[in-house]
Amino acid sequence: MIRIDNLNKSFGSLHVLKDISIRLEERKVLVLIGPSGTGKSTLLRCINYLEKPDSGIITIDQFSVDAKNHKKNEEYELRARTAMVFQNYSLFKNKTALENIMEPLTAVQKIPKKEAEGQAREILEAIGLTEKADSYPSQLSGGQQQRIGIGRAMAVNPKVMLIDEPTSSLDPELVGEVLNLLYKLAKENTTMIIATHEMAFARHIADHVVFLDEGEIAEEGTSEEIFSAPKTQRLQQFLRKFE
Ligand code: ADP
Ligand code: MG
Repeated sequence: MIRIDNLNKSFGSLHVLKDISIRLEERKVLVLIGPSGTGKSTLLRCINYLEKPDSGIITIDQFSVDAKNHKKNEEYELRARTAMVFQNYSLFKNKTALENIMEPLTAVQKIPKKEAEGQAREILEAIGLTEKADSYPSQLSGGQQQRIGIGRAMAVNPKVMLIDEPTSSLDPELVGEVLNLLYKLAKENTTMIIATHEMAFARHIADHVVFLDEGEIAEEGTSEEIFSAPKTQRLQQFLRKFE
């Protein structure tokens, strides 16, 4: 239901993503692991055309965009099937928690304000932050801000959530609350692609794992295959760093 076919992306002479092909079924979780600078963020950003691939076809829920042959509005249509969670939360600083979650509903989906507020309050409850509805980002902990970031992504009910190192900006004691929210979403069958360096989390949440190394898929498999029986030396070496 999500397909990436032969995706390539370069920045100048730097070939960052090399012929990446991935399949992900609906309601499953794909985890991207790999060294820093290997192209995980670029891949996530290419999937929703925040970054334009040089070639390749992205298909989400039977809607395909061919990098070499498409109309501009098809990029927006593809993006509308996704929602992104960023490493640095990227919340609107001058909006409350509630307003941050309402924003994509009112601004993008053009849902009337009253209705959007009702939906946003339901999400605040789901992410355990009902009492923070009127707080501004500066009044929230990093973990709470990231939960709002995830809530904002949940609000648009995307076909796939693209989640880029959701805990790497957090103090260690705040990591758990964010991972727990993602576990909850996985249990509710949310389709997600998550880049992370949290290997224990990756192992537990992933249905499928892709190990990216130097812009190519060096190994992929089920969570069990990747973490219990890594085949390639590159992956074995990478995993050793987390022991
Ligand atoms: P990762 O998320 O795995 O750490 P990235 O996707 O951020 O890797 O980066 C992959 C490579 O692409 C790196 O060498 C990075 O410097 C380069 N890169 C990423 N974005 C840009 C950009 N906008 N312009 C030029 N180079 C970039
Ligand atoms: Mg990254």
